[in-house]
Amino acid sequence: MINQAQFKQILSELNGKATLVAVSKTKPVEDIRELYDLGQRDFGENYVQELLEKQPQLPADIRWHFIGHLQSNKVKYIAPFVHLIHGVDSYKLLNEINTQASKNNRTIDCLLQVHISGEETKFGFDEEELSLFTETVAKYQQLSVLNHVRICGLMGMASFSDNEALIRREFAILKTLFSKYAQSSIPSIQFSILSMGMSSDYKIALEEGSTMVRIGSLLFGQRNYNAS
Ligand SMILES: *Cc1c(COP(=O)(O)O)cnc(C)c1O
Repeated sequence: MINQAQFKQILSELNGKATLVAVSKTKPVEDIRELYDLGQRDFGENYVQELLEKQPQLPADIRWHFIGHLQSNKVKYIAPFVHLIHGVDSYKLLNEINTQASKNNRTIDCLLQVHISGEETKFGFDEEELSLFTETVAKYQQLSVLNHVRICGLMGMASFSDNEALIRREFAILKTLFSKYAQSSIPSIQFSILSMGMSSDYKIALEEGSTMVRIGSLLFGQRNYNAS
């Protein structure tokens, strides 16, 4: 069951200035269809297997966002149809996306994941790694390598916290990095998407310049990972 009032409320808050990605992980295709029938087209999933089960059962004009941690050996399964990969955090992964995109005669849009929270995680670049990574990608693209991926922006997750000032500070850091690259003179690094904000913090993210929010539980209800 979709919370329709919440959906309309969020759309009015986004007011056409940011894209809503409805995060449907663990939720049945019936729920996705319900939101689709209300006009939603961008959906986000975290698990390759789950996405592969759902995608063929749903309309072909859905734009599927992969927002989870993607393993290189699974890229081939989603490369034929994925719309945007949010969590690119290594050269190995980007290179594999490029290879699989090429095999499918596609160019796949990607976001680089940046580690902005103070929390321990294996995933995401820090500021210095991001700088080195974008330079490397630019160099390869000048050599006509990596021509089947487009780096469209950044993605980040703030700390799980009710400290609003902390969350705001983390989003502001990401926005600053985003602006730096949005103005970059490197032709292959053209940032236009800043993916930040989830159910609990999307309002702060919008105030801090998000252009894409990823919202699950507010739309679909709480997830129950134990349900079979
Ligand atoms: C699950 C998830 C979301 C959505 O979380 P909610 O709190 O349900 O809105 C957003 N982004 C990522 C990367 C996620 O894994």
